[in-house]
Amino acid sequence: MTASETLRSTSKDTLHDVLTRLEKEGAGLGHFNVSDQVLLKAVVAAAAETRLPVLIGASEGEREFFGARQLAALVKSEREQSDVPLFLNADHTHSLAKALEAAKAGFDAVTIDFSALPFEENVARTKEAVQAIKAVNPAILAEGEIGDIGTGSEIKETAQGGKLSTPEEARQFVEATGIDDLAPAVGNMHGMLKSMVQGKAKKHLDLERISQIKKAAGVFLTLHGGSGTDDEHFRKAIAAGINIIHINTELRVAWRESLDKSLARDLNEVVPYKILRPVVDSVKQVVSSRLRLFHGQTVSPEAVETVA
Ligand SMILES: [Zn+2]
Repeated sequence: MTASETLRSTSKDTLHDVLTRLEKEGAGLGHFNVSDQVLLKAVVAAAAETRLPVLIGASEGEREFFGARQLAALVKSEREQSDVPLFLNADHTHSLAKALEAAKAGFDAVTIDFSALPFEENVARTKEAVQAIKAVNPAILAEGEIGDIGTGSEIKETAQGGKLSTPEEARQFVEATGIDDLAPAVGNMHGMLKSMVQGKAKKHLDLERISQIKKAAGVFLTLHGGSGTDDEHFRKAIAAGINIIHINTELRVAWRESLDKSLARDLNEVVPYKILRPVVDSVKQVVSSRLRLFHGQTVSPEAVETVA
């Protein structure tokens, strides 16, 4: 039995199965990034609280800090105890070696990201990575990226990203690479502006473009850089064809703010789990609130405030 089979053996539904089911239900799968076990505990707790599936994500930087194999082992362990599906994605993977490392460690999905390269080169390198990871695990979900949505899930001074994806390049890219899932640029952006963190501004998506790209591409679609997006646009984006929604910066903001508060509460407190427990709880609230929204459930104003 390979490492990837071991990781999947506790859940009957593959990621592909869950995405197909959610699409029929008109729901989106929440993708939440983790850098450490505090964030992982928060995402798993939110899945348990809402009884909704989650896709746990870790970019190359996050995997380097956590350890790709160590994160896969922890998710496997959480999955054994969970009655809702938990999946793991190798977010923003910029090399064949890192894509293979994640596939071999048992990740359920890889976001292959050569979107900074010219289109033809993006096609060639993505195709090569898709074939390589599927040779390790045929059930793995291969995602490819086109367009520019900026880099880094951080707080930013000015908006990043530029060129939006077109339906024609989406169709060409999917046909040429064999990806299962496409991440287009549709008005989304990595990170949040200060005004978004303060809740004074929201991201707005090109909903018509999403719908056209869905028709042209005919595969699952992922929305990166979801943090700070208007709630109504999330709902409409899912209706237009978005299947996976990435939220990272909102979790990082909640993590930082609650950690600051927790540390300031008692300057003599040195017990890590007493300091970190409220941080897990704050991040969990953000994740639960986003999960409910992506599944068409009513989100209370207090919960929305936590997100803002
Ligand atoms: Zn992203």
